[in-house]
Amino acid sequence: MLRSAILAASRSSLVERLVETVPLSRDVVRRFVAGTGTDDALRVTRELAGPGLKVTLAHLGEDTSTPEQAVATKDGYLRLLKALAEADLTASAEVSLKLSALGQRFDEKLADEHGHAVCAAAAATGTTVTLDMEDHQTTDQTLDALARLRADFPATGAVLQAYLRRTEGDCRELATPGSRVRLCKGAYAEPESVAFQSAVEVDKSFVRCLNILMSGPGYPMVATHDPRLIAIAEDRAKWFRRAPGDFEFQMLYGVRPEEQLRLVQAGYQVRVYVPYGTQWYPYLMRRLAERPANLAFFVRALISKR
Ligand SMILES: Cc1cc2nc3c(=O)[nH]c(=O)nc-3n(C[C@H](O)[C@H](O)[C@H](O)COP(=O)(O)OP(=O)(O)OC[C@H]3O[C@@H](n4cnc5c(N)ncnc54)[C@H](O)[C@@H]3O)c2cc1C
Repeated sequence: MLRSAILAASRSSLVERLVETVPLSRDVVRRFVAGTGTDDALRVTRELAGPGLKVTLAHLGEDTSTPEQAVATKDGYLRLLKALAEADLTASAEVSLKLSALGQRFDEKLADEHGHAVCAAAAATGTTVTLDMEDHQTTDQTLDALARLRADFPATGAVLQAYLRRTEGDCRELATPGSRVRLCKGAYAEPESVAFQSAVEVDKSFVRCLNILMSGPGYPMVATHDPRLIAIAEDRAKWFRRAPGDFEFQMLYGVRPEEQLRLVQAGYQVRVYVPYGTQWYPYLMRRLAERPANLAFFVRALISKR
């Protein structure tokens, strides 16, 4: 109930204006978002690279509705990749991209062109792109765009969401040699017709998908903070004789940082998803929806500022 309400609010421009004008927001946002500019993205990349973490950087923004916004997003990524290369950070950092930020909802061809430009810039600087997955109405479009991008840039990563009923099939399709696949639970409010609704069903689906990816010839990217699923992934990696370099764990910036370090110290590859930019509102709301305690943190900050 609470999760659905927060996710509904994430699409409300009225609530967005309200949250953005509350002075506390900056403190709450800082926990999950690196900052507003490319400099912030670089600073956090360096901080995380110190103890051996890798990052995937996301320039915030989604559901773009004009060609100008889509160009601005693409240019933001090109600036970021140039800055990463100049700072010699591309060995530690790749980028994550939402096709809706590149114009997918109103001009698929434009989004393809921008996606191609970002992938080309990433390849030229020796790094990769992963296409974030958004709500289920865009899944087919995003997987089709992925296939087109992979024709030129085979290292382009995909994201599959365990809460969708279709995902086991998608895992089989994408478990091909060299295929980089991020498996996560899924962060959007989806109807029962397409998505498992209970946590137990989502977890079971996650494990079925994990088995397919870990036993296949691709490169699994296990994106979860769930201690049970992390333990199962460690177990499956041993079972399928995957070396620590043959898969990676991924977590979000600001979520379970001590666990991120524990896994690195245990010899695993760990990549942190680091968002930055001014359009943090829908991203923040999804993080609040994932954990009611985050909402309490938000409300406490609100009260203490008054
Ligand atoms: C690297 C990465 C990339 C992602 N990309 C996508 C994507 O492209 N599309 C998409 O739909 N979703 C994406 N997600 C989000 C994902 O789908 C989940 O919504 C999110 O990871 C929470 O699920 P969980 O597996 O951590 O399990 P949960 O059951 O949600 O959480 C398990 C435990 O982790 C901790 N935790 C989880 N979330 C939070 C939080 N926000 N704040 C504080 N503690 C928390 C808590 O201790 C919680 O008990 C991504 C997640 C990661 C880590």
